[in-house]
Amino acid sequence: MTRFAPSPNGVLHLGHAYSAIRAHDLAGANGAFLLRIEDIDGERSRVDLASGFRADLAWLGLAWAEVPQQSARLDSYRAAAERLRGEGLLYPCTCTRAQIAQAAGTIGADGPVYPGTCRNGVTDPSAPAAWRLDVAEGLRRTGPLTWHDALAGEQQARPDLLGDVVLVRKDAATPASYHLAATLDDAADGVTLVTRGLDLFAATHVHRLLQALLDLPVPRWHHHGLLAEADGRKLAKRRGSPALSDLRHAGEDGPALAADLRAGRFPAGLHLARSVGCYS
Ligand code: GLU
Ligand code: ZN
Repeated sequence: MTRFAPSPNGVLHLGHAYSAIRAHDLAGANGAFLLRIEDIDGERSRVDLASGFRADLAWLGLAWAEVPQQSARLDSYRAAAERLRGEGLLYPCTCTRAQIAQAAGTIGADGPVYPGTCRNGVTDPSAPAAWRLDVAEGLRRTGPLTWHDALAGEQQARPDLLGDVVLVRKDAATPASYHLAATLDDAADGVTLVTRGLDLFAATHVHRLLQALLDLPVPRWHHHGLLAEADGRKLAKRRGSPALSDLRHAGEDGPALAADLRAGRFPAGLHLARSVGCYS
C-alpha cells in the first residue's frame, strides 16, 4: 500500500506526475495506490486545486483510492500532540522567524537548525507558541532507530540533523505540522511503503522517531530522484515548467506522457536528479 500526497497550494507539474506514476506503479506489488490531499495548511489550501489534481491523475491514466484529506483529521493530530506533550516531549517556542534566522547556528539536512532557544523556558509565556519536539530526549527514550529506503538501503535515524522541529504550529487553526500529520496519516491509512521525492529524505529521520514515540507501525520508504532542469534546480511553474492542467486542457495525450515518464524519456532539458542535495 503506497500513496501520493500532494498539497493543494499550487498546481501539479511534471515532477508531481513522475512521483504519482512511481507510486502508482510500486503499488502494483504493494497493494492499493492511495491519494491523500495534504491540506493541513488551511489558509493556503484550495479546494479547486484538489479537484484539479484528481483530473490530472485521471488524465495520466492512473486509478487510485482516495483517503480522507488532512482537514478532516485534525482531532487525531491534536490527540497525538497532547500525548507527546503529556510525556514531556514537546516544549513551547515563541521565537519569531526572524529570531530563528538570526540565532540559527548550523544549516542542517533540511535548512537552518533551530538552536533550542526555548528548550529551557520561554521569556514571554503569553506570546503565541508553537510546540517543538525535544529530539534529544525522544531519542534518549527510544534508543537508536533505523529505517529502510528501497534505493538508499538501511539508514540510521538521525532526527538531530533537523533539530527540534515544530510539531504544532502557532496558528491554532492548524494543530499539526507536516511532520506530525503525514506520519499519523500514513499509519492511519495503512501505508506500508512511503513513496515520495528525495527532497523529503531527511524528513524521514523525524518521522521514524515519531513512529517510535507514538507506537505506530513502521513502513518502508522509497525516495525517488527528482525531475530537475539542466542547472539541477527543481521544476517550478514560475520557471516555465508547464502545469499538468495546462497540458490537459491543451489536449495533450496523458497516457502517452505517463509512458514517457515511466520509460525515462523526459521532456527536453529535464533530467532525473538522484542526489539529495540537488533540490535546494
Ligand atoms: N504534501 C507533501 C508535498 O506535496 C508530500 C508529503 C509526503 O509525500 O510525505 O510536498
Ligand atoms: Zn523558540
